[in-house]
Amino acid sequence: MGFSRDSQRVVVITGPSGVGKGTLLQQLQQKYPQIHISISATTRSPRAGEVEGQHYFFVSPAEFQTMVTGGELLEWAEFAGNCYGTPRKPVETQVSQGNLVILEIEVEGARQVRQTFPDALQIFVLPPSLGELEKRLRSRGQDSEAAIDRRLDKAKEELAAAPEFDVQVVNDHLPTALATLEMALFGPHDSPGDP
Ligand code: 5GP
Repeated sequence: MGFSRDSQRVVVITGPSGVGKGTLLQQLQQKYPQIHISISATTRSPRAGEVEGQHYFFVSPAEFQTMVTGGELLEWAEFAGNCYGTPRKPVETQVSQGNLVILEIEVEGARQVRQTFPDALQIFVLPPSLGELEKRLRSRGQDSEAAIDRRLDKAKEELAAAPEFDVQVVNDHLPTALATLEMALFGPHDSPGDP
């Protein structure tokens, strides 16, 4: 399968916080280093181990607002008390160079991307169950109790939006989820380098 039109070079990956989108994408990028994963701007504070410019661009609320009013963001949304947005320029640059760009964003942002890139493939990653999601959020040990509760409430809301997406991937067993993702992106035989 080729990516003949610009918006087909954009792929959105959504799913509740803690579902394992980050791990899936890490593995995908290891296997296909030519894929570009968009780096978002956020007003959230860095978690332990998160690196500026690698996991996120960590900005102040005022800096984020300047990006919004300056039209610098392709989409943005508020999530669990913080703002998150996709810088427009790097996505446009990668797409114009013919590269595949993946945006790992929440549901509201995914809806906005449908306006700009209507042919973008939209993928939703589901947990095997809500109980399992809660277990993963807690075992990650990165968020406070209150933040975990906010994320679980948000997860219930987000899961209801899963049918809006082109493809649903259940992240139960990581290698299987990765294989499903690859199939959605490239079909059974292709790789991103194929015409
Ligand atoms: P976290 O704080 O766990 O890194 O991210 C919280 C949520 O924000 C996740 O669902 C993540 O996918 C989403 N997110 C990250 N970057 C962006 C972005 O640029 N735009 C939008 N709309 N959501 C984002």
